[in-house]
Amino acid sequence: MSDTPTYGFDTLAIHAGARPDPATGARQVPIYQTTAYVFRDADHAAALFNLQEVGYIYSRLTNPTVAALQERVATLEGGVGAVCCSSGHAAQIMALFPLMGPGKNVVVSTRLYGGTITQFSQTIKRFGWEAKFVDLDDLAAVEAAIDDNTRAVFCETIANPGGYISDIPALAAIADKAGLPLIVDNTTATPYLCRPIELGATLVVHSLTKYLTGNGTVTGGVVVDSGRFDWSASDKFPSLSAAEPAYHGLKFHETFGALAFTFHGIAVGLRDLGMTLNPQAAHYTLMGIETLSLRMQRHVENAQKIASWLEGHAHVAGVTYAGLDSSPYKSRADQIVPKGAGALFTVQLKGGYEACVRFVDNLQIFSHVANLGDTRSLVIHSASTTHRQLTPEQQKAAGASPDVVRISIGIEDAADLIADLDQALNVAHQ
Ligand SMILES: *Cc1c(COP(=O)(O)O)cnc(C)c1O
Repeated sequence: MSDTPTYGFDTLAIHAGARPDPATGARQVPIYQTTAYVFRDADHAAALFNLQEVGYIYSRLTNPTVAALQERVATLEGGVGAVCCSSGHAAQIMALFPLMGPGKNVVVSTRLYGGTITQFSQTIKRFGWEAKFVDLDDLAAVEAAIDDNTRAVFCETIANPGGYISDIPALAAIADKAGLPLIVDNTTATPYLCRPIELGATLVVHSLTKYLTGNGTVTGGVVVDSGRFDWSASDKFPSLSAAEPAYHGLKFHETFGALAFTFHGIAVGLRDLGMTLNPQAAHYTLMGIETLSLRMQRHVENAQKIASWLEGHAHVAGVTYAGLDSSPYKSRADQIVPKGAGALFTVQLKGGYEACVRFVDNLQIFSHVANLGDTRSLVIHSASTTHRQLTPEQQKAAGASPDVVRISIGIEDAADLIADLDQALNVAHQ
């Protein structure tokens, strides 16, 4: 079947990018476990290397299993193309790489995944890049942070770990006015709950490691391009608009139009940075995405039920789930993620740090791991783990204070999860 966008989301989640294998008829997407591909002849090889023909050369750049996944995620997000990468963090570097350069900056949310805060506040400095952290609820501050050297604005749809929802349309309007792309990390929402491109995002990044694969088996990432940004409107994005010396002066935007960012990501990004997703991982993620809608429905149903129950518990001081009426982000959640506010939130315990540690140690069904978006329910004390590298101010801004525990609700029976949480809360407060 062809990937016409007239099909519904659930049909596309199973069929987009996949077709019976032309060589064998295999119905499931085969794992093309091969490093290289035989050229038809020397002219074919030359055309591939010159980007005059699209095809397979070497699996650091392209692989048929990975290509099926790229097409599937791009379709589900409403983008024109996608580039898979070896992790979510690799996807963030791959998204910024064509835009940035020494002395350039990206305006980013203070509320981000802990690892992303470290990547942006420390590691990208070694490339001469800078991240300016801004409270995205202060739109005037976002505008004020943008200067002549800004090359993008970056946020997460549902910020990890705090139950915060970004106002994507408002941020897109600001980025648009400044002639800049808006990059949205949609990992914790998935295209089932939110399609940021429809809300004005230029690029969408994902950690495939989380809900898209869905079962804790894969480390992977992807960058999806909306195809809508005019990279040649200013001289700010020479990697895409100016002549590329490594391809005999080819100009990506002029040559590939809406697919410029995707082609650059493969032909320069994967070629030279080498952050490639392996075909086995792509296969697992393709299978995971087949059940994305069913899983996300259960994830949000369980999360809503459990967050409401926790909020009423005697030992709980607060719950950050944006789907609760008590959340300051409830009305924004209704607008941005109307099918549910995800399945990730934090719980603040009255017993503080000590109670959090005892709570985590006494849960039976919930696993204490540095992961989220698994079918299994997971828990982590962010302040002593994922957000440990951050200053107390950064921890607080990121929703990872010492007295809060982050919970990723799985798709088990909600009653069993509630019983487990109840017994661990009671032990933690003895
Ligand atoms: C996990 C995660 C990442 C990083 O992804 P990896 O696959 O672990 O590199 C980035 N952003 C968010 C929101 C995440 O949850």
